[in-house]
Amino acid sequence: MQYRNFPMVPRVVFGNGSFQQLGEILMPKRKNSDAPFIFFVDDIFEGQALAKEIPLLFNDQIIFISADEEPKTEQIDVLVQKIKESFTELPSGIVGIGGGTLLDLAKAVSIMLTNEGSAADYQGWDLVKQPAVYHVGIPTISGTGAEVSRTTVLMGPEKKLGINSDYTPFDQVVLDPNLTQGVPKEQWFYTGMDCYIHCIESLNGTFLNAFSQSYGEKALDLCKEVYLGDIPLADSRDKLMMASWHGGMSIAYSQVGVAHAMSYGLSYVLGVKHGIGNCLVFQYLEEFYPEGVALFKKMQEKHKISLPKGVCAKLTDQEFDIMINVSLGLVPLWENALGKDWKGIMTRERLLALFKSI
Ligand code: NAD
Ligand code: ZN
Repeated sequence: MQYRNFPMVPRVVFGNGSFQQLGEILMPKRKNSDAPFIFFVDDIFEGQALAKEIPLLFNDQIIFISADEEPKTEQIDVLVQKIKESFTELPSGIVGIGGGTLLDLAKAVSIMLTNEGSAADYQGWDLVKQPAVYHVGIPTISGTGAEVSRTTVLMGPEKKLGINSDYTPFDQVVLDPNLTQGVPKEQWFYTGMDCYIHCIESLNGTFLNAFSQSYGEKALDLCKEVYLGDIPLADSRDKLMMASWHGGMSIAYSQVGVAHAMSYGLSYVLGVKHGIGNCLVFQYLEEFYPEGVALFKKMQEKHKISLPKGVCAKLTDQEFDIMINVSLGLVPLWENALGKDWKGIMTRERLLALFKSI
């Protein structure tokens, strides 16, 4: 048995207002006045207080990016090219400020600044050769675990797949729950449920071990407090941020399962975003996660979240085929969820019927 020796985020600061310490944190990482920090910031913050508080120095640059679509390999390649053309030196560092979309984008750009070719060449496991540029993640919405994970999920020309590598995790994370204050309710639910589903899939998977369980159970308890308890809003923001962290740590040493495998297929064909995609799938997975789905429905009811219906109603046979191929391609997820003989359990027909119900 070969155990995975995986990297963790070496530095993290947690607390309301900790974003104010960013200037101080970056200072020792500045190589010289020609090597800038590039800040990738969710464009909802354009003109907002947060953007004005970014500690710019020398030739630092803020690049606002929309999170309406998930990051693409082509988009990463264009951004890297642009940075290389604009500066005489490699950046001192890359900072991502936003949700999973911006965090993944920052991770991918920091990798591609030091590795040749296209981001698409590195989608997979352990394909990255050179260490990335120093990179910092600052989440403004909680749930994905992208702030701790060893992957950056990208939509490529052929597949939606992460760059999973030892160089992917952030060198520094700033967890400031205050930054999540403006998140709209639906989005708060969808992205938070990503965390909840990470827990359920990890805790009910065949890859489970004490490491994953210890983080998964804590994250699940926090999710229950946030989505089923009646706690003050500020506490709830703190707890959801830590739930996201622990949920990410839990899957780091296990794997996600059926909902994620299906959600990737859904997202590839329909462009459905990760959080809502997971919810759309998960509600129909009682046969795999009976308790998890029952609790999900309770949370959905409590927060009056209604999910769209008939999402797959107009798909052609060919589109269903692609959806199924993308989904079944995620072998480790199925193996975790259903065991080594998963192919006999999750047949194409069964998967098709599940997709058709969405
Ligand atoms: P997101 O980054 O896509 O953002 C969702 C929405 O919330 C956007 O409209 C954004 O503008 C808005 N938003 C973010 N912060 C806000 C704030 N403070 N106030 C108001 N609005 C705010 O959402 P997400 O769910 O965090 O991320 C999804 C992405 O994460 C997907 O691309 C998915 O593939 C990726 N992901 C990555 C990992 C990983 O380990 N790398 C894990 C899970 C998901
Ligand atoms: Zn997820």
